[in-house]
Amino acid sequence: MRELAAAKCPQCDKIAQYDVAAQTVRCKHCGLKASYEEYIGMMAGRLTTLTPGYRAQSMGEDSGGDK
Ligand SMILES: [Zn+2]
Repeated sequence: MRELAAAKCPQCDKIAQYDVAAQTVRCKHCGLKASYEEYIGMMAGRLTTLTPGYRAQSMGEDSGGDK
């Protein structure tokens, strides 16, 4: 039996499938296929590149910068 978990695709933002047994992430939307480690690296890289945009956006919307 294959156990699949939904995972966000780092390439196209759609729902990819994480194959728990094979530790592989596959996205049928864009054809991505990556090992779990590669997937984590891709997501981490994405977060790094997206952070400035998120910051600019949240700073514009509300001034809750410090807690
Ligand atoms: Zn994809």
